[in-house]
Amino acid sequence: MPNAKEDKILEKLKQQREKDFSFSKGNILGSMCTQPYPIAKKAYMMFLETNLGDPLLFPGSKEIEKKYIDFLKKLLNAPRNSEGLIGSGGTESNLSAIWLAKKINPKRRELIVPQSAHFSFEKIASIMDIKLVNIPLDKDYRMDANVVRKKINNKTIAVVGIAGSTELGTIDPIPELGRICYDENVFLHVDAAFGGYIIPFLKKLEYNVPDFDFKVKGVSSITIDAHKMGCSAIPLGSLVIRDKKWMGKISVDTPYISSVKQPGILATRSAAPVAAAYAVAEYLGFEGYKEIMETCMKNTMYVKKRIEDLGLNLITNPTMNVLAIKLKNPCKTVDLLTKQGWKVNKMSRLSSIRIVVMPHITKKVIDSFIPVFKKTCRKTGDL
Ligand code: PLP
Repeated sequence: MPNAKEDKILEKLKQQREKDFSFSKGNILGSMCTQPYPIAKKAYMMFLETNLGDPLLFPGSKEIEKKYIDFLKKLLNAPRNSEGLIGSGGTESNLSAIWLAKKINPKRRELIVPQSAHFSFEKIASIMDIKLVNIPLDKDYRMDANVVRKKINNKTIAVVGIAGSTELGTIDPIPELGRICYDENVFLHVDAAFGGYIIPFLKKLEYNVPDFDFKVKGVSSITIDAHKMGCSAIPLGSLVIRDKKWMGKISVDTPYISSVKQPGILATRSAAPVAAAYAVAEYLGFEGYKEIMETCMKNTMYVKKRIEDLGLNLITNPTMNVLAIKLKNPCKTVDLLTKQGWKVNKMSRLSSIRIVVMPHITKKVIDSFIPVFKKTCRKTGDL
């Protein structure tokens, strides 16, 4: 039956949505998210009316969550005794990790992070009223492990290493950090929000990338996001912890819902993004993700060549599908590109712009972008 009121509202929403940039049109070049794989959309809709915060009401959804956690544990070489906690994204998973580390050592007040850490750690420091100890980067923009060794003391809550940094996609020396933290008995959290779905496949493709997961015995926990290179729907991030016993430290009693205790930060949360991530993982499997990564890396090298052919330079050789292009005035370049319908990210700290070659950035998209970029660089004086 036609419903005029509904149609009017939906039309209004459609008009608003048309103002957005979109992954599927290919004009978002700077984001770490992408269009959800088609099966993710279908799975998401099936689980719209669910709440994982009340698991005995939704036992089917709860089983899907467990299956998805099992997939992540396998992907990250997690021990049998490990456990996963599903949340809204990298920020929440990082917060849960540091909350846990603080619970293990409640009197400690310092968190060691690389200068390249995502800004979520600033929020975490503010929420938890703790101090960030920033570690400089080496010439390859990776956390300097020698400085970390010197900075660890009896106030250290945890060390954070990044596997796939937000600005450059670099990977901190996790094996060295693991050794240091194991020797010093300090919690090591790896923020692989972006790289968690990438590095395992780069390894299969024989790229020279370091170990970053639970194979490194000093690693205590890992953040990994399905809504980034997991190619699933927003919002979904996870924390995997080495020892499931630790989950009790970040759980509270739940006297009036179907569970006895609840871990993590959120209470009510939808199973829709979990079902979506699980569906994509089942559909693609490790082989499918490897193929996607292979294409993203080929396209990354293609962007690099096209940029260097213009006479511009990258900040560093890409480790993964992230490129940073040195520019005189990145803010101006971003403004001019936005006016022409292209969205890249400015990185003022590195005087550059970031392009993340996600699956929606095809060779065709790159070929349409480069001439616009070239003209823009002429206007800004970069060429
Ligand atoms: N950690 C890293 C390395 C990231 O790149 C990001 C986001 O880009 C985050 C954490 C935060 O993730 P979210 O935006 O899902 O909260």
